[in-house]
Amino acid sequence: MTAPQVELRTISKHYGPVVAVDDVSLSITPGEFVVLLGPSGSGKTTILSMIGGFVTPTSGEVFIAGQLVTHLPPAKRPSATVFQDYALFPHMTVAGNIGFGLSMHKVAKPERKQRTDSVLGMVGLEGMGGRGVHELSGGQRQRVALARAIAVQPSVLLLDEPLGALDLKIRRQMQEELTGIQRKIGTTFIHVTHDQEEAMSIADIIVVINHGKIEDMGPPQRIYRHPTTCFVASFMGESNVITGTARARQNGEVQVDTPLGNLRAEGDAEEGTEVHLCLRPEQLRLGPGDGDETISLGSATVSETIFQGNHLRVRAQGGANNQVRLLLEVEPDAEVVAGRSIDIHVRMKDIVLLKD
Ligand code: ADP
Ligand code: MG
Repeated sequence: MTAPQVELRTISKHYGPVVAVDDVSLSITPGEFVVLLGPSGSGKTTILSMIGGFVTPTSGEVFIAGQLVTHLPPAKRPSATVFQDYALFPHMTVAGNIGFGLSMHKVAKPERKQRTDSVLGMVGLEGMGGRGVHELSGGQRQRVALARAIAVQPSVLLLDEPLGALDLKIRRQMQEELTGIQRKIGTTFIHVTHDQEEAMSIADIIVVINHGKIEDMGPPQRIYRHPTTCFVASFMGESNVITGTARARQNGEVQVDTPLGNLRAEGDAEEGTEVHLCLRPEQLRLGPGDGDETISLGSATVSETIFQGNHLRVRAQGGANNQVRLLLEVEPDAEVVAGRSIDIHVRMKDIVLLKD
């Protein structure tokens, strides 16, 4: 097993009565692109700042590359940080900004020039070293900030909503470039965002933060398809959360009585307790289903359909007395019409039992 690149051991940060970060432990493997994802105020920046050295934890320890750094200032840590507001020197040139960081790291002059040219190429700004920062667009400034951070060859790069100020198209483009750069240099990236689409498109591992705690952690596909809690299910895109009562348990499965019938899901819950099941809109399928691998959810009355190009978004009311609101995403050419009835089934393995 490789030693973690970054390890947080039970770190907390209190600001008076406010608990910004609450007993977080986290281990990050070298070379991973990790995204801290959560709503505004959930503690993402505080966690990142404790790794970068801008905030000292109230309790707990921070290790980078095996070294205890909890009380070291940012400049003494093997990390570099890219902020949303770039934090560039506006009166300096592009090369001046990058070179300044390198001189702070005591890199000799000839090597500074060579490294500056190399990182400018990497972020798509070759030949622009002589430009003034004030002459650049927002996207270009963020590229300079990224180049400056990469140039010092940190063992971990910290990025706090670095794309937050950019418009959508440039954001998407920069997301792809960021992952490309990370793959190329192989440095561990820890990237903060509140945008779940951004997280899914760039992360190897997503760490979902809520109220200063880690709510869930894993590869994007797992987090999306098998969220562990109601919060993760609703924060990571849309979902159908179905409430039911736990019944018999066997072979690692629970039977759950729901208004859509008797369903089964992997996991455990005490008999008689209320539980929540999660199904993504694209996991609700048309037709009665067949065989052991699927479970019928009965029929539902379509209330609305919206054509969205690559799929048809369908709202329907299902269950006894049609009281359960359902959201489906089906094939764009499916014959689904408002007012008509549809049969719905799901694959057994798509039903996720949520922890509350
Ligand atoms: P996020 O980056 O997820 O939006 P933050 O880490 O910035 O969240 O903040 C987490 C919580 O800690 C919030 O309630 C915020 O108001 C509080 N907080 C952050 N920094 C300070 C500070 N310097 N003083 C007091 N409260 C703070
Ligand atoms: Mg923040």
